[in-house]
Amino acid sequence: LLELVPSIMSNLLNPDAIFSNNEMSLSDIEIYGFDYDYTLVFYSKHLHTLIFNAARDLLINEHRYPVEIRKYEYDPDFAIRGLHYDVQRAVLMKIDAFHYIQLGTVYRGLSVVPDEEVIEMYEGSHVPLEQMSDFYGKSSHGNTMKQFMDIFSLPEMTLLSCVNEHFLKNNIDYEPVHLYKDVKDSIRDVHIKGIMYERSKQILVRSRCYQKFARIVNPFNVRLTWLACCSRDKGMRYIVGKDWRDLFDVVIVQAEKPNFFNDKRSFRYLGPLSVICYNTSVFLLQGNLYEFLKLTGWRGSKVLYFGDHIYSDLADLTLKHGWRTGAIIPELRSELKIMNTEQYIQTMTWLQTLTGLLEQMQQTFLESLSVALLSSRLFREMTKGFFNAQFGSLFRTDQNPTYFLRRLSRFADIYMASLSCLLNYDVSHTFYPRRTPLQHELPAWSDRPPAAGLPLLQEAQAK
Ligand SMILES: [Mg+2]
Repeated sequence: LLELVPSIMSNLLNPDAIFSNNEMSLSDIEIYGFDYDYTLVFYSKHLHTLIFNAARDLLINEHRYPVEIRKYEYDPDFAIRGLHYDVQRAVLMKIDAFHYIQLGTVYRGLSVVPDEEVIEMYEGSHVPLEQMSDFYGKSSHGNTMKQFMDIFSLPEMTLLSCVNEHFLKNNIDYEPVHLYKDVKDSIRDVHIKGIMYERSKQILVRSRCYQKFARIVNPFNVRLTWLACCSRDKGMRYIVGKDWRDLFDVVIVQAEKPNFFNDKRSFRYLGPLSVICYNTSVFLLQGNLYEFLKLTGWRGSKVLYFGDHIYSDLADLTLKHGWRTGAIIPELRSELKIMNTEQYIQTMTWLQTLTGLLEQMQQTFLESLSVALLSSRLFREMTKGFFNAQFGSLFRTDQNPTYFLRRLSRFADIYMASLSCLLNYDVSHTFYPRRTPLQHELPAWSDRPPAAGLPLLQEAQAK
């Protein structure tokens, strides 16, 4: 039995480490670029409550939604990032790397949809490619799925679920597509009307990371940043100080990513007008990446860009321009801490062992099929319960990687919980991805001696 117990959990995981999907040496990087929201700055947990409340009130006041929806308050623990929302059926769910819906994670309103109903609705649990969200996670005509990738979309998903819940509970007939659009517009208006930025000073988090911000960027010679909105000058002043621009060679505002990477809009200069000059802060408005590359000559693997939105921030840069990319995934820190608990390690060891036994024993004992069914339910509930109660981990479904993780692996060379993780590495550090075995590089479960698992299976059957 001991031979079957995997030794993967022998060392604790470091929540402040940087993880690499692709080999990359910082000594090859000459230019560092940064997104703003949730990359350079973090907000207190009140921001999402503020967005939720403001959008909920816009639904009531401007879209004439029933005032009763005001009774719903923001629950920060309801949703996780990366979920898919079926715009026509009004259900929120987690999908894996192979487009399979994770049963038990499908929510209509605030209630879970029974597995049988999900299977009937989707004629199984697979979502065909043409129904999935588009490249940037958006839903359009045929693509009925929308993927929520933004950290700001947490209050949006929760508001959608609360309003759906109210209509369903009260048997109010409604068109889910319109409801989706109204919620989306209200959330957008909260951002556009600047409700959140009016109070930005109260909600910005001045964490350890930003007191040491200069320490992060100073060792690197050339730097740039994209900021999405002029008013964020206030945020940077608050976090870094009034001279924050001196830390950067180029600052671009209103970039409107991902349009910045694809459009041909021209730049408008707000700062020193002549040419881009190193060590002189240049302030640019709008523009596009093609023109930017022409101006600077910065291309390819000498640039490392950090962002928290895997699609808008990172996808085009890596696919079209060969820039190196770093994803900021704040959820990583709390998930790694959970994975370091003794209870989690023991559960994983037990479930892995059980899975191996079941694969080995399925031919020998037909009755083990019922054990298999039982264990897969157990597996799901036990692994999910450690993380978000409704949707589980951001990175895995029961056993598979999530759709989120698949795209993270594709578009990010390295990923980490926050920029401050960089402080733990030397400026010329090389990140080597661990050589984890591919599936065919390990002996199959069935090639191990079955006898080793017998006592455990008999015990399980006896129960
Ligand atoms: Mg961002």
